[in-house]
Amino acid sequence: MLRDFCAERSVPVRETGKVVVVSDDAQMDALDELFRRGRENGVELEMLDEPALAELEPLARTHGRALWSPTTAVADPVTVVEALAARVRERGGRIAMSSEVTAAGPGWVVSRTGGFMSAGHVINAAGLHADTVAHWFGVGEEYRMMPFKGLYWYGSWAPGTLQRHVYPVPDPRNPFLGVHLTVTVDGRVKVGPTAIPTLWRENYGGLSGFDAGQAWQIARQYPRFLTSAHHDVPALMRSELPKYYRAHLVRQAQALVPSVRPDDFTTKGRPGVRAQLLHLPTGRLEMDFVVRGDDRSTHVLNAVSPAWTTALAVAQHVVDGIFAR
Ligand SMILES: Cc1cc2nc3c(=O)[nH]c(=O)nc-3n(C[C@H](O)[C@H](O)[C@H](O)COP(=O)(O)OP(=O)(O)OC[C@H]3O[C@@H](n4cnc5c(N)ncnc54)[C@H](O)[C@@H]3O)c2cc1C
Repeated sequence: MLRDFCAERSVPVRETGKVVVVSDDAQMDALDELFRRGRENGVELEMLDEPALAELEPLARTHGRALWSPTTAVADPVTVVEALAARVRERGGRIAMSSEVTAAGPGWVVSRTGGFMSAGHVINAAGLHADTVAHWFGVGEEYRMMPFKGLYWYGSWAPGTLQRHVYPVPDPRNPFLGVHLTVTVDGRVKVGPTAIPTLWRENYGGLSGFDAGQAWQIARQYPRFLTSAHHDVPALMRSELPKYYRAHLVRQAQALVPSVRPDDFTTKGRPGVRAQLLHLPTGRLEMDFVVRGDDRSTHVLNAVSPAWTTALAVAQHVVDGIFAR
């Protein structure tokens, strides 16, 4: 759906495809599982041997086999969101920028610039703040936001040097994909992201967005998370925290593309903060979409990656759910 939308609105898309590579035999089962799941979901996929991988992406390295996703592509998120906003406005929708919603309940919303507004149905898609908004409605009380910061570094390589996204096999116990190499729509290469725990939601640099109350609340969730039976959290911390150091982070990518050098990746990208939901009773990080609601409100609580790529399909699913009630 997003590909069609981009074509319709002349949003540039780069047809990169993606390879998922492995570094040892221990990762083969996880690679096979990705292949099985992808096929089950109707995704076009192919298993490659080393010579076939070398032909598709000469810079990538694997151990025996690699997965090839020919339909993976990339677009610039800002351009896509601007195109979506233009479409909403063309169809008579109104978008209120810089207008924080400070309170809401079934049938009403209060925002900083719009004041009190009545609403037939409230859809909460507030990303990092989705849990807070849902709690105003008494929905999703068992969930809390557990933000993780993602840092990227851009390479100085000439555009087109790397042609395909190159990803590792993710650890199925965690909802993170691991450090990978992404080709941007203009052919540049970036390495990342990290998944570094952060104590406040809008931690986009230095102390920006710091909120002591929020930090205290998130810190209080840590004992539950650290002792979670669902994740090896100490191991996660040991692997993620050192990635704050650029050279360490960039070196992780050498397992995928050996020619990556820390000195070539020195331009910091805009950080992102992952709106990751923690299920408090079990200490589990939710790995899938979580949508809750009733006949007056719907709450998109866990819209983690790839919720940008799948945004139109998810929106359709959410809206169908409202009309089905
Ligand atoms: C490092 C990183 C890399 C990622 N890579 C990918 C990728 O390659 N592919 C992919 O598909 N996805 C990726 N994602 C995930 C993707 O960014 C998210 O899934 C997606 O942005 C979720 O969309 P959303 O609309 O639910 O939330 P958001 O994009 O966070 O939007 C929520 C909006 O609500 C606003 N808001 C919040 N609270 C209020 C309030 N009280 N009042 C008014 N407005 C409010 C916010 O300002 C924001 O504009 C990545 C995420 C991260 C962090």
